[in-house]
Amino acid sequence: MKRTEFLKKGIRKWKNVLAVTGVMAAVALSSGCQMNKYEKIELSEISEEDGEEEGRKAKEAESQKGASGDSGQSAHEASSSPVKAEIIRETAPEMEARDEVVFVDATDLNVRSFPGAQGAVVGTLNRGEQLKRTGYSQSWSRVDYQGRECYVSSQYLTTSQPKPQETETDVSASEGASAAQAGEIGLNPDWKYADFSKIHSGKAVLYKADGANRKGKVVCVNAGHGTSGGSSVKTLCHPDGTPKVTGGSTAAGATTAIAVSSGMTFSDGTPEAKVTLALAMVVKEKLLARGFDVLMIRESDDVQLDNIARTVIANNVADCHIAIHYDSTTNDKGAFYMSVPNIASYRAMEPVASHWQQHHALGDSLIAGLRGVGAKIYSGGKIDMDLTQTSYSMVPSVDIELGDKGSDHSAASLDKLGNGLADGVELFFKN
Ligand SMILES: [Zn+2]
Repeated sequence: MKRTEFLKKGIRKWKNVLAVTGVMAAVALSSGCQMNKYEKIELSEISEEDGEEEGRKAKEAESQKGASGDSGQSAHEASSSPVKAEIIRETAPEMEARDEVVFVDATDLNVRSFPGAQGAVVGTLNRGEQLKRTGYSQSWSRVDYQGRECYVSSQYLTTSQPKPQETETDVSASEGASAAQAGEIGLNPDWKYADFSKIHSGKAVLYKADGANRKGKVVCVNAGHGTSGGSSVKTLCHPDGTPKVTGGSTAAGATTAIAVSSGMTFSDGTPEAKVTLALAMVVKEKLLARGFDVLMIRESDDVQLDNIARTVIANNVADCHIAIHYDSTTNDKGAFYMSVPNIASYRAMEPVASHWQQHHALGDSLIAGLRGVGAKIYSGGKIDMDLTQTSYSMVPSVDIELGDKGSDHSAASLDKLGNGLADGVELFFKN
């Protein structure tokens, strides 16, 4: 719908509301923040004509119910609806007068033009920012924001400066991670694509950084392989059932692939799964020391989570997903990541379509980090591959191959690679 048409619809709807209900309502002609009077208008009284607006509103109401509270919603989306700025549908809560300094204890906390989920978002605030509070109710607080009276959700304001270790209360939807509690995390059957997993009785473990340098970001570290019985089960390559577009351990054209393969064996006889686990443990400690929370998919020789379960858990708990592997060539060719094949049908398939550029940004950052510590890099640092992990990933996600059967996997080598990967993660979140 064009904006002008949408605006007309909004005005037409407004007229309908007056005609049908005769209710007095406050009208804001701009997204300014000085609204003080409100009348409730029942949604059922509003003309049926604008399904689009209602759908958006229902979604917003739903997101308000969840743990994400008032934070994390797209400011762009919220402020782009002219209708919302014109009709106020909520009764303003009674406010107790206050005159105090408060601090934001959330990330991306929405600042609204009036106290309600329909209030236009006029800005966002981050943890530790100071505000003057002039009014308080249990649900909403009135604050001075850039010289105007605006409203933020009371539950994310504190009267003392929040401490870094209190960031578990982080509520940003984009940091789904930060909302999760430390400890074991299994596959929630309600999560998107969870149904596609065949092996999911195991648990990942979330570790929270506890230093003053906490970053509020969760990195999923996925030690490749290590699921006993995983090679005798098959899962769909793509959520839409289409066949694989490149050949790797599974041939192009196949619609199903091994749920978790057993991995290769290094030239010296060491199983790949042992080395990926050892490196994952090194990376975990380095990331925690640098203030990242870490979601460990596997910390022993066996975890009963297939590649889809690993990916879906990362989608819902982490801000990025790094699967650690070594390749099956023998010439110590160097590190590279599995990039998203430049095949139109694959790049158009969700969730690849919405995320493949993020996957590349993460892969490029990790390669830059590895290059920075002097690790050997293969060619341009990437090889196109259609992987199950990529095909189900909804957060920045890569399979990175740190070398191959011929590569050194001594403790010193893993320490160097661990530094490179941790540098790459820092680089990724800085960009
Ligand atoms: Zn592997």
